[in-house]
Amino acid sequence: MTTPAPSAGCESNALPVLRERGQREVFCGLTGIVWLHRKIQDAFFLVVGSRTCAHLIQSAAGVMVFAEPRFGTAIMEEKDLAGLADANEELDRVVDRLLARRPDIKLLFLVGSCPSEVIKLDLSRAAQRLSTKHMPQVRVLNYSGSGIETTFTQGEDACLAALVPEAPEADDRTSPSLLVVGALPDIVEDQFHRLFAELGIAHVDFFPPRRAGNIPAIGPNTRMLVAQPFLGDTARAIEARGAKRLGALFPFGAEGTTAWLKAAADAWGVSELDFRRVVAPHRERAKRALARSRETLAGRSIFFFPDSQLEPPLARFLSEELGMRALEIGTPYLNRDLLEAEMKRLPEGARLSEGQDVEKQLDRCRAERPDLVVCGLGLANPLEAEGMTTKWSIELVFSPVHGFDQAGDLAALFARPFARRAALKV
Ligand code: SF4
Repeated sequence: MTTPAPSAGCESNALPVLRERGQREVFCGLTGIVWLHRKIQDAFFLVVGSRTCAHLIQSAAGVMVFAEPRFGTAIMEEKDLAGLADANEELDRVVDRLLARRPDIKLLFLVGSCPSEVIKLDLSRAAQRLSTKHMPQVRVLNYSGSGIETTFTQGEDACLAALVPEAPEADDRTSPSLLVVGALPDIVEDQFHRLFAELGIAHVDFFPPRRAGNIPAIGPNTRMLVAQPFLGDTARAIEARGAKRLGALFPFGAEGTTAWLKAAADAWGVSELDFRRVVAPHRERAKRALARSRETLAGRSIFFFPDSQLEPPLARFLSEELGMRALEIGTPYLNRDLLEAEMKRLPEGARLSEGQDVEKQLDRCRAERPDLVVCGLGLANPLEAEGMTTKWSIELVFSPVHGFDQAGDLAALFARPFARRAALKV
């Protein structure tokens, strides 16, 4: 495959996209449990997998020590994998024990893995069976976090899509409600809540909810704002319930957040004057917060390896608001529906790539010697050893980065690797 000529701006979905398939370097969807278990406070994530899966989750979440953890692994032993034991019976026993010991659990996710998929353990039937047994105290759902053909943020998409059918039907005679979709830190949700209230949008729900009993109702009067670009399946499942999606940039940086809020304000008929009155002070503060990082980042080149699916909106933010020069914007999947507004704002001259053939991409990266490489943990160390400055993309999902108040922190995440490298040189 050859590298296409750089795109002359991204005015339509017909822009050249370099599609690659080959060896990939990404975490699997189990990783999403690390931030999802903090969001839905009475949920438990039971991975049905191998010791490898247990190690991944424990090491990814290792820094978080809870008296009562909200995730665990039902470990499949060799006899399960060889079909010598009834995995369903064993799973039922594990779930019974867990729920008897933990009455605080109200929502249990059975999370599929590569091993459970290899032996074709039907977790949707298991979830139905266990739900029947444990309702109304505990609802049991399932989704796949397997690493076969997926990337790590798809774990959240699969989890939230599994939650959509549990949402009650909204009464279509009521006035419209706004549904913000994507697991955001509580502090960010609270900030958005206040901004929507100032704009006069009173009925706002967040999906997923903080507690399993508060899943918001969905119906034809639901207007949806998606907060993460990797939630394609979830958005489609919510639209299938009659909700209407408000297309917008994603709320990264001052401009992205303004456009995201504007989409809701327009749907609610908020006047331009009122919108500016509410938003302008926050926007200006966000812009001021960006100024320091801009000094470090302006004019520097950046190369995104495909990892989090946040790459296109981040490339837009870094080029428009911080003056960086994007060389390659790699993303595991281009979710064209959700990214429609972003695609029109991608920086001129950038190469947009979808999928991965890691060796070829490494060759391009080495040839271009970007000032900053955004990549997964597996690539960061070798590239650092070659003298390149890197940023771990997984941090962008773990950190509060959405909205006006986080714009400065988001920019600082990209500026910090330069400070670190400068310190190492001293
Ligand atoms: S789900 Fe698959 S990729 Fe993820 S840790 Fe388990 S075996 Fe590895």
